Amino acid sequence: MPEFPIEILKTPEAAEAVRIITELKNAGFVAVLAGGCVRDALLGRKPKDFDVATDATPESVREVFGKRSTLAFGESFGVIGVLPPRSTAAEETSHKRMPTEVATFRADGNYSDGRRPDSVTYGDAEADALRRDFTINGMFYDVFDSRVIDYVGGLEDLSKGHLRTIGKAIQRFEEDKLRMLRAVRFATTLGFSIEHKTFAAIQNHASDISVVSGERIGAEMRRVMTAPAVDFGLETLVDTGLSLHIWPQLQTMNWTEFSRSIQAAKQPTFETAMAIALFHLPGDSLHTLRLIFDDWKLSVAERRAVEAALTHAETITQCDGLAWSRLQPILVDTDAPTIVATARALAPKSRGVARAGRALSGDPNELNPPPLVTGADLISTGMRPGPEFKAILQSIRDDQLDGKLKTREEALQRIPTGDE
Ligand code: ATP
Ligand code: MG
Repeated sequence: MPEFPIEILKTPEAAEAVRIITELKNAGFVAVLAGGCVRDALLGRKPKDFDVATDATPESVREVFGKRSTLAFGESFGVIGVLPPRSTAAEETSHKRMPTEVATFRADGNYSDGRRPDSVTYGDAEADALRRDFTINGMFYDVFDSRVIDYVGGLEDLSKGHLRTIGKAIQRFEEDKLRMLRAVRFATTLGFSIEHKTFAAIQNHASDISVVSGERIGAEMRRVMTAPAVDFGLETLVDTGLSLHIWPQLQTMNWTEFSRSIQAAKQPTFETAMAIALFHLPGDSLHTLRLIFDDWKLSVAERRAVEAALTHAETITQCDGLAWSRLQPILVDTDAPTIVATARALAPKSRGVARAGRALSGDPNELNPPPLVTGADLISTGMRPGPEFKAILQSIRDDQLDGKLKTREEALQRIPTGDE
C-alpha cells in the first residue's frame, strides 16, 4: 500500500492547510486533508491544492477564522474559503492571498437535474467519503495521527492503478453526469485503468453527458489534452462513447499519426495539443475548431492560438528556403510559440522547423528589428495613408528583412518624391 509522504506537509503549499487544521483542532473540531491532495501525495505527485474537510459547520469555520479572513464560496454546499494571515510565507511566494477550501463533512441529497444535489446535510467523515466520486478521491489524511482514513478502498485501488466509482457506478453517473468525463480525465492524467463496471456504466450513459455545461466539459478537456497520455485519453473517450457527444469527429482520428505527433511534441500546451489533434482529423479543421470552440466555451485567446497553428504550421515545416520576409511575420505573431510547437510535432526533423525554432529563441532584435522607415516618414514627404502608402511601407520592410536595405538613408531613397 502506498505511504503518505509526511515531508509534503512541510512544503509552503501545504503549510496553510496544516495551519487551518491545527486551529480547527484547537477549537475542538475534527479537521483533515481531503480528496485530491491525499490521492496525489500518496502517488508522489504534487497536489494542485490542499483541501480541508471538517466537522465544523460553515458558521463555526467563519467564527474560528473571523469573517474577514473567510469567503463564503459555496456556503450552501458547506464550503468556506479561508484566507492566509497577511504576509505569511505562502503569500510571499504566491504574491496573492489564495484561499484554502474548507468543506464541512456532508452527505448529498437527491440529484434531480443530473448535475448537483438538491440539498446537502452535514454528516460525518464516512458520509462525506461516500458522496465523493471515485475511491481514489475519497480518502482523508489526519495530520496529527499520521493516518490515511479510507472508508472506500481508495488505498487498494490507488496501488493497483484502478479508477472505480464509490458505490454503484450507474447510480453515481445518473446523479452527476460530469463524473463520466472526470473518470476519463483521471484515468488519463494518472495513467489508471477504468474498472470494468465503471467503464460499462459510462458506455451505457454516455449520451447523458450532453446535460453538462460546455464550460465544465472544456475544463475537463483541457486536463485531458495536456496529459502525457492524451492519446490514450482521447481513445478512451471514443471507446466509452463519450466522444460522440463531445467531439464527434474524433471517431475518424488517425491514431497512429496522432500518437506519433503528440509524443514528439513533449508536454504540449492545450492549444498545441488541440492543433495537433485537429491536424490528424480528416475534414475542415478550422470548421471543427469553431464548433468545438463554441461547445466548450473556450477563450478567444485559445481559439486564436489554435487557429494560427492550423493556418501556419505547415508553412513552418516547409520554410527552409522561404524568404525571411515571408517567414518573419509568422514568427512575430503572438501565437508563434504554438505555431512552431505544432510544426515541430508534425515534422520533428524538418529543417524549416529548426530554422523557425532558432529564430524564435534567438535575439528578439534580430527577429523583429525596428523598421528603417515608418509611416511618419512617408507622411513628411506629403503622402497620405492609403493602399499605396501601405504597399510602399511593406515593400521597404520586406527588403529590410531580406537584407536588401541596410540603412535608413537607403530606405528613405525608396520613398517616391512628389515629382515622380
Ligand atoms: P484536481 O484538483 O487535481 O483537479 P481533485 O480530485 O482535487 O483533482 P476537484 O475537482 O478539485 O478534484 O475536487 C476535489 C474533491 O471533491 C475530489 O477529490 C472528490 O473527492 C470531490 N469531487 C469533486 N467533484 C466531484 C463530483 N462531481 N462528484 C463527487 N465528488 C466530487
Ligand atoms: Mg482539487
